[in-house]
Amino acid sequence: MNSDRRKFLKRLATGAAAVSLAPSLLSGYTEGKAKGKYNATYPRLEFDVAVVGAGPGGVPAAIAAARQGAKVVLIEEDSMPGGAPVDMFVTFICGGPRVGIFREMIQHLNQYHTIGGKPVESFGEQGYDGKNHWWMPESYAQTIYHMLEQEPNITLMCGAMVVDTLVKENGNRNKVEGVVITRNGEYQEIGAKMTIDATGNGFVAASAGCEYMYGSEAKSDLNEHVGMDEADGKVQPCTWMMISNRIKRNAILPVDKFIGSSTVEDNLDHWVTVPDIPDMIRRDAGIYLHWGKTVYCDDTRDPQKLAEAQRKALVKLRHNMQMLHEAGYGVYLAPKLGVRECRRVKGEYILTSNDIAQGVFPDDTVAHAHYGFDVWGMKIPEELKGTQPYGIPYRSLIPLNTEGLVTAGRIISSSRIAHSSVRVQPICANIGEAAGVAAALAVKHNTNSRGIDVKKLQAILRNNGLFSAFEQ
Ligand SMILES: Cc1cc2nc3c(=O)[nH]c(=O)nc-3n(C[C@H](O)[C@H](O)[C@H](O)COP(=O)(O)OP(=O)(O)OC[C@H]3O[C@@H](n4cnc5c(N)ncnc54)[C@H](O)[C@@H]3O)c2cc1C
Repeated sequence: MNSDRRKFLKRLATGAAAVSLAPSLLSGYTEGKAKGKYNATYPRLEFDVAVVGAGPGGVPAAIAAARQGAKVVLIEEDSMPGGAPVDMFVTFICGGPRVGIFREMIQHLNQYHTIGGKPVESFGEQGYDGKNHWWMPESYAQTIYHMLEQEPNITLMCGAMVVDTLVKENGNRNKVEGVVITRNGEYQEIGAKMTIDATGNGFVAASAGCEYMYGSEAKSDLNEHVGMDEADGKVQPCTWMMISNRIKRNAILPVDKFIGSSTVEDNLDHWVTVPDIPDMIRRDAGIYLHWGKTVYCDDTRDPQKLAEAQRKALVKLRHNMQMLHEAGYGVYLAPKLGVRECRRVKGEYILTSNDIAQGVFPDDTVAHAHYGFDVWGMKIPEELKGTQPYGIPYRSLIPLNTEGLVTAGRIISSSRIAHSSVRVQPICANIGEAAGVAAALAVKHNTNSRGIDVKKLQAILRNNGLFSAFEQ
């Protein structure tokens, strides 16, 4: 690799090139409006807090802000809320702790939606001591709808894509004052005192001009002990998830004919492998979650590259799908290719794998977390796997040089290796809950994300049970 390329990739990985990489929709809408080219057909709406993305990070963010008294809009581009568990069929929960609003969600799932019809006794408050579970994707959506119905302060918008941010220049820092959505193909401005980017892809922050990181940095960039020797700008591979269920009576899952695909049986957390077949038949509930096929995508920010990756995955999936059909199973592909990694928004602090491996709880910890490094496509040495509980600092939720915006879920400011731990659902949800309370506090005290009293934020989160797993 020549040195220019290396430098470029390094800039890319550390986000220094981010502003020029960010889509320029901001100027598109704002300038277009100034020239009279674009008109927002629908009247502007005003909220205290706008949460963009109704996934594991965004839903708790909206609920937490609403419970603090904020008037909240939760904006989702899909036709229903849920995020990756619903649109990518990532319905399997790893890591923890499973506390706060996330715990309420899985309690509801466990009580009303367990696939085998038999709720389990423990789903684990702490990272690794809990069983892993999965539920049907629409069970997540139903549970989320149920939870949102209890919150009169939340307005939910589905099928509403955020295409821009409303940004005002404000001294050294831009101030985000809401977002622009498309509604029925027309623009609508959504004004908000605070905006939370929970898109899983960092689009809101990018469109507001925030710096972001994308792809692998070199471990020396952030003085990490684990990581790539050289930055290569690559993200983790994508996996197209699918669910199969028995249609023909007495059909047996043809796992012995599968080519490289992990499969898990109903809610019992049993991985289905070839040697397990007799045991599997004994327990078999006839519904399986499959990590279908895994492919690299050249750029997970780019819809054309995503479509190419999807096509590659589909070609690779054909064999197993055919085996399933022939054996008497129906196969349901997730609506979207499962994208593990996209932008990470550069914040006041970049959480690193060192922090996680050492189990650091910084003074401004606002979310607890417990999961090792799970970087698909990279072997992590055993001694560096990082399985200690750790704390997520509030600074990692605050984008550099920007006000009015906090991040939630997997896009927070972290190194790529740290992201591989942060990205699991319970951790994304705990971060989301913290972001929601923080945004509501900023509104309540007429201040901004940097002006809130972090001790007060922590006290509310503690009271909500967010720290109950690892604090005596
Ligand atoms: C293949 C795969 C396997 C995984 N396996 C596991 C696992 O076993 N266990 C586990 O716990 N986690 C797993 N994960 C990780 C986990 O599912 C995600 O990291 C997690 O869902 C991230 O939550 P989030 O809220 O940050 O983002 P998301 O779940 O991506 O939610 C973001 C939401 O924002 C919406 N959105 C995006 N852009 C816009 C826009 N411009 N306007 C409006 N809405 C927008 C999206 O439609 C989406 O609903 C896996 C992920 C993948 C892809």
